[in-house]
Amino acid sequence: MKIHEYQAKELFAAAGAAVPKGIVVHSVEEALKAFDDMGGKPVVLKAQIHAGGRGKGTFLGAPEGSGGGVKYTTDREKIAPTVERFLKYPLQTIQTGPEGQKVSTILVQQAADIAKEYYLAMVLDRTVGGPVLMASTEGGMDIEEVAHKTPEKILKLVIDVETGLPEAEARKIAEQLGFTGTQIDQAVTTMKALTKVFMEKDCSLAEINPLAVTPTGEILVLDAKVNFDDNALFRHSDVAAMRDITEENPAELRAAKSGLSFIQLDGNIGCLVNGAGLAMGTMDIIKYHGGDPANFLDVGGGANKDQVTEAFRILLGDPNVKAVLVNIFGGIMQCDTIAEAILAAFKEVGFHVPLVVRLQGTNVEKGRKILADSGLNIATAEGLTEAAQKVVAAAKGA
Ligand code: GDP
Ligand code: MG
Repeated sequence: MKIHEYQAKELFAAAGAAVPKGIVVHSVEEALKAFDDMGGKPVVLKAQIHAGGRGKGTFLGAPEGSGGGVKYTTDREKIAPTVERFLKYPLQTIQTGPEGQKVSTILVQQAADIAKEYYLAMVLDRTVGGPVLMASTEGGMDIEEVAHKTPEKILKLVIDVETGLPEAEARKIAEQLGFTGTQIDQAVTTMKALTKVFMEKDCSLAEINPLAVTPTGEILVLDAKVNFDDNALFRHSDVAAMRDITEENPAELRAAKSGLSFIQLDGNIGCLVNGAGLAMGTMDIIKYHGGDPANFLDVGGGANKDQVTEAFRILLGDPNVKAVLVNIFGGIMQCDTIAEAILAAFKEVGFHVPLVVRLQGTNVEKGRKILADSGLNIATAEGLTEAAQKVVAAAKGA
């Protein structure tokens, strides 16, 4: 699960990090009031969406050159047109996809003067099998490029999940980043806050970019991003309450409501499968035969007729889907149950694209007979290769 920047900053501030004053608004009037309440000093207007790269983003349809989703201003007159632009056009960044993301929340933040930008993050590192603290003097907007071109400029420290961040190690990193005097203490405090939030809230990512140093030497969290492990949300009701479903894919949410897992992709073959492993195998073989999955919908081990019908509704609701492959291995789930569900769904939802069904496992003969006797236009396949070839051809209009 993802949260907004302003929420991530609340978590970091509560853990002891220095965060600039900010007020969350949803309209021009609220933004003007926030500007006045903060003393009419320079502010940064920040579009709140669950994606990074906002500074370099563009508002789709807005007049050219009007800027991205992070706007510094000293001028009260600039507030209204900026907020109007933020709320009117979808913001497209390198992380949003081509259609962009609608903005409904804006953070009005007291602007800081920046002498230098740093990068600080906690991530889960597969190679070490645990959390790693990353720090770099090359903060700002292009950390991916730093990691790619000059990986030596990123300091890494493996964190022991039992003991956390040792003070001496944190000081060493602060010194390696070039901090001196009281800045070392400020940097250590920030690193401690970052690791504390990451560990206590079961995060999969916690990032401060930039961590800014002001001309007077103050260290501030200027941008913050935190992602959580969904499987641990049950023990953090405070975090779960931060969820903003308007930022999430409606089809994925709808599937979750029926106990189904739906993942949106960008091809044109809808996949209905049971089990995540079979989903991966199904996508691989579709790709291998020259097709592109539009999504996969995992009905899990024991889906019933209603769930399967809802699964088809979701799959067919995607206008990109040009053919559907059902690939079910009947274990606990029986093939005749799924065949009945397919027929029910076929009648109820009405298929406007070709359907290929491959069943294996428990009661497979019964299942195939139900489909064959139905008289409906359903292509069947016995093996994975045959299924993939048929659905790829169907999606291509063959
Ligand atoms: P992102 O583009 O989504 O990562 O959004 P950020 O919050 O990181 O903002 C992008 C850039 O805007 C930062 O790297 C800074 O250079 C600049 N910026 C953000 N906040 C401030 C601020 O308070 N003062 C100044 N001068 N620049 C800021
Ligand atoms: Mg940033």
